[in-house]
Amino acid sequence: MASVTLRGIRKQFESNSVIKGIDLAIEDGEFVVFVGPSGCGKSTLLRIIAGLEDITEGTLEIGGRVSNTIEPAQRGIAMVFQSYALYPHMSVFENMGFALKLAKVPKAEIAERVGRAAAILQIGHLLDRKPKALSGGQRQRVAIGRAIVRKPEVFLFDEPLSNLDAALRGQTRVELARLHRELKSTMIYVTHDQVEAMTLGTRIVVLNGGRIEQVGTPFDLYERPANKFVAGFLGSPR
Ligand code: ADP
Ligand code: MG
Repeated sequence: MASVTLRGIRKQFESNSVIKGIDLAIEDGEFVVFVGPSGCGKSTLLRIIAGLEDITEGTLEIGGRVSNTIEPAQRGIAMVFQSYALYPHMSVFENMGFALKLAKVPKAEIAERVGRAAAILQIGHLLDRKPKALSGGQRQRVAIGRAIVRKPEVFLFDEPLSNLDAALRGQTRVELARLHRELKSTMIYVTHDQVEAMTLGTRIVVLNGGRIEQVGTPFDLYERPANKFVAGFLGSPR
C-alpha cells in the first residue's frame, strides 16, 4: 500500500491548460474516485500519477517519495483501462502471467500468483481459454487479474466498466468493492458515471475543467454539495 500526494499539479498540452492546480492527499488503502464530465482531465491526472505524462508544474509523491526520482516501472502502480488490450494469441493464464514472465519471476511463483488472482476474480475455470472465447465481463476480469498478479501498491482504474452492459457493470462494481476489502491496496478510480462514483468511492473527488470542485465522502457530497456544479452533477436535491 502507498499514499499518493499531489501538490499544485498543473498540466499543459502546448498552450492548452488541462490540469489547473490540483492539491490532494490520498492515504494508504483508500478507494478514491475521480468523477467529472468528459474532458475535465481525469485520464490526464491518472496518467500523471502512473508516470505516463510529464508534470508541467507541481510535485507528486508516491509512498512518501517524490515521483521524479522513481521510474514509472518502479512506482508499484498497475493501471486498468477501459479497453482491455489482452493478447489474442495468449491464453488467460499467459495473459495474466506475461508481465511476471518479463520480470523473470520463477514459473512456480507465476503459477501461484495467477492462481490466487484467478480465484479472487472467480475466473479459475477460464485459464486455458483465449480472449476471443470470453465474454466482455470475463475479459475485464482478466485485465484486472493482470494488474493484481503484479501486487501493486496502487491500482489505477480508468473507466474500466464503460464497455460493459448495465447489469454487468453493477455486478463488477460489487466485485471491485470486494477486491478492495481483500487486497487493501490504494485504489484510484476514474469515471464520468455518478452512480459508479457514489457506490464505489470511500472518498470522491469531483473534477471540472481541470480543477477540484469538492472532495468528500458520498454522504458529504450528497448532503452538503459545495456548489451548484456538484449538486447538479451528482443529482442531489439542492
Ligand atoms: P477526461 O479523461 O476527463 O475525459 P482527459 O484527461 O482525457 O479528460 O482530457 C482533458 C483535456 O486534455 C481534453 O481537452 C483533451 O483534449 C486534452 N488532452 C488529453 N490528452 C492530450 C494530449 N496528449 N495532447 C493534447 N491534448 C490532450
Ligand atoms: Mg478519460
